[in-house]
Amino acid sequence: MQLSDPLPEKIQNKLDPVLEPNEEIRIALESDMDAEGRFAPSWLIVTDQRVMTLGLNGRGGDLAVPLSELTKVEVEPLVGGSCLEVSTAEDTIPLIRYSQSRSDRFNEAHRGIEQQIENKPFLVKTEFPRVVCEKCGRRLPTRDGLCPACVSKWHMFGRICSYLAEHKVKAGVMVAMFSVLSVAELLPPKITQLIIDDAFATKNMELLFWYVAFLAGLLVLRWLGEMTTGWLSAWLGARVVADIRGQVYRHIEYLSLGFHDKQKTGGLLSRVTYDTRNVRSFLVDGLPFLVLRWLTTIGIIAMLFYTNWVLTLYILIPVPLIIIWGKVLYRRLRVFYTRLWRRWEGFYTHIQESLSGIRIVKAFAQESKEVGRFRRNAWSMFELEYWTEKQWITYFSTMGLLNFLGFVVVWLVGGQQVLGQELTLGELMLFYFYLHMFYGPLRWLGRVNSWMTRAMSAAERIFEIIDTEPEAYEDANARPMPTTRGEIVFDDVTFGYDAALPVLRDIDIHIHPGEMIGLVGKSGAGKSTTVNLICRFYDVDYGAIRLDGVDLRDIRLEDLRGHIGVVMQEPILFNGTIRENIAYGKPEATFEEIMEAARAANAHHFILAKPDGYDTILGEKGTGLSGGEKQRVSIARAILHDPRILILDEATSSVDAQTEKQLQEAIGRLIKGRTTIAIAHRLSTLRDADRLVVLEQGRVVEVGTHEELVARRGHFYHLVRLQRATAEIMEVA
Ligand code: ADP
Repeated sequence: MQLSDPLPEKIQNKLDPVLEPNEEIRIALESDMDAEGRFAPSWLIVTDQRVMTLGLNGRGGDLAVPLSELTKVEVEPLVGGSCLEVSTAEDTIPLIRYSQSRSDRFNEAHRGIEQQIENKPFLVKTEFPRVVCEKCGRRLPTRDGLCPACVSKWHMFGRICSYLAEHKVKAGVMVAMFSVLSVAELLPPKITQLIIDDAFATKNMELLFWYVAFLAGLLVLRWLGEMTTGWLSAWLGARVVADIRGQVYRHIEYLSLGFHDKQKTGGLLSRVTYDTRNVRSFLVDGLPFLVLRWLTTIGIIAMLFYTNWVLTLYILIPVPLIIIWGKVLYRRLRVFYTRLWRRWEGFYTHIQESLSGIRIVKAFAQESKEVGRFRRNAWSMFELEYWTEKQWITYFSTMGLLNFLGFVVVWLVGGQQVLGQELTLGELMLFYFYLHMFYGPLRWLGRVNSWMTRAMSAAERIFEIIDTEPEAYEDANARPMPTTRGEIVFDDVTFGYDAALPVLRDIDIHIHPGEMIGLVGKSGAGKSTTVNLICRFYDVDYGAIRLDGVDLRDIRLEDLRGHIGVVMQEPILFNGTIRENIAYGKPEATFEEIMEAARAANAHHFILAKPDGYDTILGEKGTGLSGGEKQRVSIARAILHDPRILILDEATSSVDAQTEKQLQEAIGRLIKGRTTIAIAHRLSTLRDADRLVVLEQGRVVEVGTHEELVARRGHFYHLVRLQRATAEIMEVA
């Protein structure tokens, strides 16, 4: 096994003379920074005997340290990257510095060196998700995601249009009606010419009548065409956006917690609302305009060339200029639209956070500060929006000027030709009308480009979500597990929210079916993380967790989560009735079942004392209930759900003795016959647990019954004494 970037010849030549004949290269990675953080490639080489760094271009000090001398290897986070450091008995040596984009590989190198120091088998990952774009080298917003700079506008356009494919008939009728409409728009100037040149010149009344009748027919056709295409595009636009919106929202719900940890809620909210609205306005307003104008413009140019190609050439002179300018402006504004979106994201996030935390805002009398922040956000958006609009207005006005220049040319050059009898008066009028039809939309073409830019960058953000791998709910290879005994085994599990910084290390725990385990440890020791891993909210980095001997990653997620019930420290209740809240995990439950669960949770009496009983509506996050009441509702919910495995994140908040007793009884009934993992704070729980697992800095330091651990006088004993001392202080206070 080798973790290696392709070795350039220069490095190979440098290596060959220094390597011993039987020395094996295990890691060879290129970094992108030197010790001062400047861009300068250098190499980390790890063999089965030593670690080395080699610089290119003579820069960067080359060094080599035998593995046998190393005591420790660490990743030191720095600004804009990290540094891999090794320690010997005397010294700590900064080995190599690298940017964030290379951190995946260097984290593995870190593990690899660690394994070698500890004389463990050399096992490292050699495949990594893409973090930078291969084309432009920019950092990707999401791993294995799309590069916003390289993704083509047309690609996005095609992807939006692919949603139209589901509504083929309507889309087909719309395109056909557009063709009819463009013919109906193109013909009236030609008929005007014929009226002037044929009917007027020959003073033929009947001819005039037929031409006018034809014109009227065209007007009716145009009216019909405009209405049908309008209806169809409104329907298709709204429908496609409803489809996309549904898909994005569904996807957001199914994305892993790891994804949600990194996203701002406001950003997701604005993708579902603001971005989808932009795509819709493009589909309803922009796309029909674009199609119709292109069809008509092609028709006009053909007609003009056919009538008088010399005059046409004169008129077309400014066109390349307009197109180039439009393109340049579009490129510049694209960046600004992305910036504007970022501001929108911040804007939404701020509103969402400050309104959902309105209690805290009020408790700290921070209303004016929040209003000030809102104003600043709104102001910065005003500046950016004004700037982009200003650019467009300059563009439009100048387009208007060029348009006018076209008319000057028609009157001057065309007028001369009329006087020289090379052009008829009717043909001059034809040019005049077509010029109107040609330049008018051309002026607006920039605007469509702007709609398109907005819509495409919105689409980009939407597809970014849709393309992110969701949790594997529908993995066809996953094993169904309709029942479980509830045996959970942690087999050498290592996990970190960021792979470089493991939060849990080498965890081995065997939890027997029906056993109650208390997880104990200081705050930040990794208790909640252990529980998160059992629920498979995150996947382990190394090792495996098994339920009844099957790796969690191989079990159908729906089955796994169906077997687990969670009672949290701060129960999450939804805006709805108490009854709905209890039945959240089992919506089909009968009222009798709900009441029975509430009774078992000691909640029935307090619920009946509420004005509307079980139909009492709770506010957002369960406002209207006390802490103890919320907990009992959530216990009732877990009892009704009837899971085989129970996760209990105990309340630390002190409740009165009566409530405490009721809670204790309810929990006692709840855990009966289930495998329970309790994050234990209260001494009573610690005594009830069959075994306690003591965590410290992500490692299991002690396992045993309460009595055993107290007798051992180790970590647990120390923790209990600390807790007692705190309790005494609290009592005195
Ligand atoms: P405990 O439950 O024992 O208090 P946790 O499991 O919550 O500890 O946390 C263990 C470590 O993991 C802490 O250092 C904490 O900061 C970190 N951590 C917890 N949740 C996240 C998260 N979603 N993203 C990044 N780090 C986290």
